Amino acid sequence: MKLNLVLIDNRLVIDMNVNDVIGFKADGYTGLPERFDLDVMGEADVIGTVELSEEQVTKIKAEYKSGGKCDWCGEVVAELSHPHFNDFAIGKKMCRTCWDHDRDVYKGSCGDDIGDFKPVGRKNSHEY
Ligand SMILES: [Zn+2]
Repeated sequence: MKLNLVLIDNRLVIDMNVNDVIGFKADGYTGLPERFDLDVMGEADVIGTVELSEEQVTKIKAEYKSGGKCDWCGEVVAELSHPHFNDFAIGKKMCRTCWDHDRDVYKGSCGDDIGDFKPVGRKNSHEY
């Protein structure tokens, strides 16, 4: 599969050709499953094309499914979890760093253990 390689803020971004018109976002892979505003992606300079195998595209798409932007700290990561029961918010996802931080906090303050970080899409991940 041939995809455009574009330049956004001096970074190389693979335009994954996945556009969310309602959310006004386009998937742009930078090594992490990032999303860019549609107009930013549309106006970005195309500097070349990259050839990805089906296998690589599938792997990147899986990262978009299981990863993305943490709703707590805003970092883009390859793996996100559903929120834990002490900070539950429908539709939000949390990164491992925030999870581990919260785990320490709750253990220290009330003795509750929220358990290990469980990435979405993995076995034993919670599904709400
Ligand atoms: Zn986070």
